[in-house]
Amino acid sequence: MATRMRLKLKTVFVLYFMVSLMGLIYALMQLGQRCDCTEHDMPKDRIISRLRGELHSLQEQTRKLEATKQPEKNPAAPFLPTIFVITPTYARLVQKAELTRLMQTFLHVPQLHWIVVEDSPRKTALVTDLLKKSGLVYTHLHFLTAKDRKLQEGDPSWLKPRGVEQRNEGLRWLREDRRAPPGEDGQQGVVYFADDDNTYSVQLFTEMRNTQRVSVWPVGLVGGMKYERPVVEGGKVVRFHTGWRPSRPFPMDMAGFAVSLRLVLTNPEACFDGEAPMGFLESSFLKGLVTMDELEPKADDCTKVLVWHTRTEKPKMKREDALQAQGLGSDPAVEV
Ligand code: UDP
Ligand code: MN
Repeated sequence: MATRMRLKLKTVFVLYFMVSLMGLIYALMQLGQRCDCTEHDMPKDRIISRLRGELHSLQEQTRKLEATKQPEKNPAAPFLPTIFVITPTYARLVQKAELTRLMQTFLHVPQLHWIVVEDSPRKTALVTDLLKKSGLVYTHLHFLTAKDRKLQEGDPSWLKPRGVEQRNEGLRWLREDRRAPPGEDGQQGVVYFADDDNTYSVQLFTEMRNTQRVSVWPVGLVGGMKYERPVVEGGKVVRFHTGWRPSRPFPMDMAGFAVSLRLVLTNPEACFDGEAPMGFLESSFLKGLVTMDELEPKADDCTKVLVWHTRTEKPKMKREDALQAQGLGSDPAVEV
């Protein structure tokens, strides 16, 4: 009896052992197997296949649209002669403000090449940086005005002409860099002298773009007048509206004319005469280039003012000087 009981217990134990072992083996076999994730992946799969379908139909639509589209007419930009703008400039408190205003006007003008000529013994960091960051096509030059030719503190502004050497340096660069190859006409272009303190309408550059020899237009707020301008009759300049010596060969401000690049290149001697009597600087350049009869009036027969001979007030530094005397002046590292 006792032996049979032991036998039964042994069988139960063996059976129990076998079942546990099989369970363990099954569990071990499942380990490392890829899970059957069909259920989890189903929504993702569906999203991908739906997106594929949408992409396909979009591609189909694009293809159809492409097929019905008209061929583009003349995609190339129209040809524009380059406008070379020569700007004399010199270091003073308002210089960066003036050049920033000019730069931002010129950014609105297509096919413009800015020639900036500093009145300084070397190129300054302020102008170098400003030009580099401008996004304009430019050439940076410098030419120091001799001391005896420069206006001294307290001199009346009419005593000596300003920016003369710098404009001539710009002309020299043009004649060297844009020289036409022998037998060729050379680049089509226009040359304009833009002082750094004037105000320019973008429209002005459209007007001067097709200058053949010398084009002219009114200048606002100049010569003690609301404006000065060439007077046009029958499409020709017949005289000048000016408050002072209208008998001068070309009684016009620097801002009131532009010259074709071809004329500048074919007349290598034409330049500004720093020794010219007051009011004759523009004439000293133009007199060998053109006659009054040949002038090309722009801006609706010279009836629209598109450039102003503005002048910037010299900022007063009374408080700055007072603070500096106490060692409390503005940080010189801040560029103004
Ligand atoms: N200019 C210059 N050096 C000077 C004074 C002026 O290069 O010592 C430049 C100035 O930046 C401007 C141009 O020459 O672009 C004409 O000067 P300004 O505007 O003072 O002349 P104004 O308007 O009185 O004719
Ligand atoms: Mn000026």
